[in-house]
Amino acid sequence: MVRNLASGFFESAERFPERPALAVGNENISYQSLRQEVARIGATIQSVGDHQSGVVALLAHRSKTAYAGVLGILAAGKGYAPLNPKFPLDRTLRMLTLSGSSILIAGAESSANLPNLLSTASGSLVVILPDCDVAPAWSKELPKHRFLPAGQMSSGRNLSFSPELASAAIAYLLFTSGSTGQPKGVAIHHSNVQPYVKYVSDRYSVNEEDRLSQEFDLTFDLSVHDMFVCWERGACLFSVPEKSVMMPAKFIRDHQLTMWFSVPSVVGVLEKMRLLNPGSFPSLRHSLFCGEPLPAKYAALWQKAAVNSTVENLYGPTEATIAITHLHWDPGRHEKEYLNGVVPIGWPFAGQMCRIVDEEKRTVATGESGELCLAGSQVTNGYWNDPDKTRERFVQLPGCDGTTWYRTGDLVKQDAEGCIHYLGRIDHQIKVRGYRIELQEIEAVLRRVCGTEQVVAVGWPVRNGLAEGIIAFVSRNEAVDENVVLAECRESLPEYMIPRRIYLRSEFPLNANGKTDRQVLIRHLDAEEGQLQETAVLRGSAR
Ligand code: AMP
Repeated sequence: MVRNLASGFFESAERFPERPALAVGNENISYQSLRQEVARIGATIQSVGDHQSGVVALLAHRSKTAYAGVLGILAAGKGYAPLNPKFPLDRTLRMLTLSGSSILIAGAESSANLPNLLSTASGSLVVILPDCDVAPAWSKELPKHRFLPAGQMSSGRNLSFSPELASAAIAYLLFTSGSTGQPKGVAIHHSNVQPYVKYVSDRYSVNEEDRLSQEFDLTFDLSVHDMFVCWERGACLFSVPEKSVMMPAKFIRDHQLTMWFSVPSVVGVLEKMRLLNPGSFPSLRHSLFCGEPLPAKYAALWQKAAVNSTVENLYGPTEATIAITHLHWDPGRHEKEYLNGVVPIGWPFAGQMCRIVDEEKRTVATGESGELCLAGSQVTNGYWNDPDKTRERFVQLPGCDGTTWYRTGDLVKQDAEGCIHYLGRIDHQIKVRGYRIELQEIEAVLRRVCGTEQVVAVGWPVRNGLAEGIIAFVSRNEAVDENVVLAECRESLPEYMIPRRIYLRSEFPLNANGKTDRQVLIRHLDAEEGQLQETAVLRGSAR
C-alpha cells in the first residue's frame, strides 16, 4: 500500500481549515472551501462507477476547477490525465483517446473547445461540468455523452477517501512529445511521486506560512511539485496569471511569494526587459529552477535579485517524476567557473540513483561523458501502453541485477566530487521555454503537410544556450504554401512547437554519416541572423 498523493491536502485541511490553500485571480480559497469542492468532484466520480483505465481526464487550465479537479480525481482513488485547453483539438483528442478515460471533467475555460472535442470523441463519456449550473444547450446535440453539470453533481458528503492505495495505483498520466510523431504517455504512480513530495518538502522546510508560485501548465509535471509540495504543508498556492508567466517580477512582489519555481527562460526574459534588479525579491527564501539548462549568468542574476533566497538547479525527466538531482548554487563562485557557462545538475536526491554509461551500457570512468541513466523509487516502469518504447528506454545495465534503469538521452559527465555536469542531448530532443520537444514530431507534421521527405526542424535562436523557438527547413516544392503549412501545423501542434519561420532549401548540408547536419544549419542561421534572403521563400511567424 502507498499513501495517496492527495493525503497531504486532506491532512492540511484538517489542521488549517481556515488558512488559504489557493489564490486564483482575485479569489482566495481556504483549505476548508477547496476541500468541499474536491469532495463534490471526487464523490461525483465515485457515483459514476468504475471504469477501465483507472484514469480520469481533466480539461482545465490553472483555474479553481482545475486544481479542485486534480484533487477530486485523486480523492476518488483515480489518476488524473490533464488535457490542455491551449492545445489544438487534434492533440487533445489523441491524448483523451490514449488515456482510455471514460470520464472527463471540464472547466469553464475549456467551453470554447468542448463541443468540438466531444463531437469527435469516439465512445461515450461522462462529462462533469463543475462550473455550469445546468447542462449547456449544445449538449442536447451530443446524446451519446452523459452530462453532469454542478446541479446534478454529488454534494460531496458521501466521498469515500482512501488515504492509502494499492502501490501500483496511478497518480497522473502525462503526455510528452514523441519522436515517432505521436505524444507518448508517462504514467506516474503514487509510489513514484510520494518520495519526491516528502524529500522536497523536508529539504526546503516548507510550512503553512509559505506562499508558492504556480507557473506551470498542468500538462507539465513541474506543476505537480507546485501543488503537492504546497498542500502537503498547509501553504498557499499562487496561480500566476497567464500574462505574468514569463514576466513575474511584479507578481512575486505584490504577493510576497516565499518559494519560486520556474524554468530558467523566465530569468532570460526578465533580464531582457530589465526587470531583474538587485534586491527585487526580498520575500523569496527558496528559488528553484528546472526543466532546461540553467545558465550560470541567470543563476547569478537571480541570486542578486532574491538576496534572502537559496538558488537551486533541479534536473529530471517526466519519467523520473519532476526532478531527481539538485545543485545548490554557490553565490561565491564566479559564473565563468562553470563548464560551458551552465550550472551543473549536481547530485541525486537521497535514495535515487544515477549512472553514466557508454553506447554499450557500460559505466564510464569519472570525467568521461556518457548517457545519464536513472533508477530508484521515483522512476516509473515504462510508457503507457507502449511496450516497444518501454523496452528501448527502460533497460537493465550490466552488473546491476534486477534494477530497471531509465535512459534519459542526456549527455553528462561526473567530476571527482560526484557532481554531474549537463553537456547536452544525444538525440534531437530540445527544450523551448522548458517545453520538451522531439524535433521529429514537428518534422513528421511538416512532411505530411508539405508532401516532401526532406524536412529539418531546429531550435533557434539560441540565447545563453537556451533555444527560444523553432525554425524549419523544407526541400523546395512548388506546391508548398506558407500560410497553409503554418495553419496545418497549428491544427496538430501546440503553440511552442510551431515553427517561427519556414525556409525552402534546394540542398541540405550533410555530416560525415550522410545525415542532415543540423549544426551547420544553425550556424548558417546565426551567421545570417535569420536573413537567409537568397534561400528564404517562405516566411511565417508563429504568433
Ligand atoms: P521533461 O520530461 O519535460 O521534464 O524534460 C526532461 C528533460 O529536460 C531532461 O531530460 C533534460 O534534457 C532537460 N532538463 C530538465 N532539467 C534540466 C536541468 N536542470 N539542466 C539541464 N537540462 C534539464
